[in-house]
Amino acid sequence: MKVAIIGAGVSGLSCAHELEKSGIRAVIYERNSFIGEQMPHVASFLAITHRPIKNQLKYLHQRFDIDIKPLNTINTLIHHSPNKTSTIKGNLGYFVERGKGPNDLKNQIFATLKNTEIRLNESVHFNALENQFDYIMIGAGDPAMTDELGCFEEWFQGYERGAIVLGDFDVNTQIMWINKDYCKHGYAFLAPFNNKRAFMTVVASSANKKEVEHYWEEFLSAENIQYDIVEEFKLQHLAGNVYPHQTENKYFIGNAGGAIDSFLGFGQVNSIVMGVMAARAIVQGVDYETLIADIVKRNKQFYEFRKAFNSIDNKDYDKIIASIGLPGIKQVLYKLPTNIIKYGSKILRKIEK
Ligand SMILES: Cc1cc2nc3c(=O)[nH]c(=O)nc-3n(C[C@H](O)[C@H](O)[C@H](O)COP(=O)(O)OP(=O)(O)OC[C@H]3O[C@@H](n4cnc5c(N)ncnc54)[C@H](O)[C@@H]3O)c2cc1C
Repeated sequence: MKVAIIGAGVSGLSCAHELEKSGIRAVIYERNSFIGEQMPHVASFLAITHRPIKNQLKYLHQRFDIDIKPLNTINTLIHHSPNKTSTIKGNLGYFVERGKGPNDLKNQIFATLKNTEIRLNESVHFNALENQFDYIMIGAGDPAMTDELGCFEEWFQGYERGAIVLGDFDVNTQIMWINKDYCKHGYAFLAPFNNKRAFMTVVASSANKKEVEHYWEEFLSAENIQYDIVEEFKLQHLAGNVYPHQTENKYFIGNAGGAIDSFLGFGQVNSIVMGVMAARAIVQGVDYETLIADIVKRNKQFYEFRKAFNSIDNKDYDKIIASIGLPGIKQVLYKLPTNIIKYGSKILRKIEK
């Protein structure tokens, strides 16, 4: 069986890892000259986003034999709205490094591969691979090829402005801000690499590259942020619905398959799972759509949550942040395995009234 994978990303590498278990030596095409991220950042595995899975890293190990070494655990989450702050403590998830070094998430998965062929500096389109391979896994990290094949519907569009900042940080604390004045219906967050260096970003919904610069400045000023900024970047955020996830011999995996949620833009766990499931689908001859049904269902719940969140304002943000600090609510949100995303849109609509 000849398998091509477009993109040495989280999903593509996970797919190759699973194929190797069946003795299949895939060929991965990667447009960059390296494996990893152009822009270093810290990404989160937040437990609340994948309920009822309690511990995402354990889940990936136990179910898919994929071991991820985190940068740190997340023990504290500080949420800010315009006038309220709420701090949650507990086993909230993990930070993982993204960049070019050996601890980068992609490089950790890459290091487990034994006989997959990797072709760096090769930007490819599926048309060029059509006659050479039995299957093509599209894991290019965005839905461009999916859209070209008529399988993508946009649900969220925004622009992200991020930076590496220097200061004093708690390595186990993630800080999140919601405020319509500087991120519209998006958010801002800070996640530390170590106690002196952190990744900080503003994701502004329905914003373009120029507008996000304005929101970034507003954020720094409103929150009186004075860290030294050492690296900066901007990129577009796109999330949406993919259907079908397979067309003929082409399978959409990771962000190209709609892995990314339309609320926070998180997609690491889904990308790993989709890569593995696409491999299983072709090896075992089973239906890919069935194998990823849970991911699709959860991302539809995220979309409902996104729509409800789009209709509330700063006053409601204050109500949410004040309420998540209350003991009973905190318990349900962060300690129990309740899938809060499923009920979240209904709760937000109640808050709006
Ligand atoms: C700044 C930032 C912060 C994020 N934070 C989080 C977070 O905190 N938590 C979370 O869960 N998720 C987060 N995400 C999302 C997460 O990183 C993605 O969902 C995940 O990496 C997607 O995996 P993928 O395999 O689809 O694509 P990627 O991992 O992006 O890999 C795609 C690869 O394909 C290559 N490629 C593209 N086109 C071609 C081509 N034509 N030919 C050959 N190669 C090609 C690219 O160079 C890249 O290496 C974040 C994303 C960004 C950008």
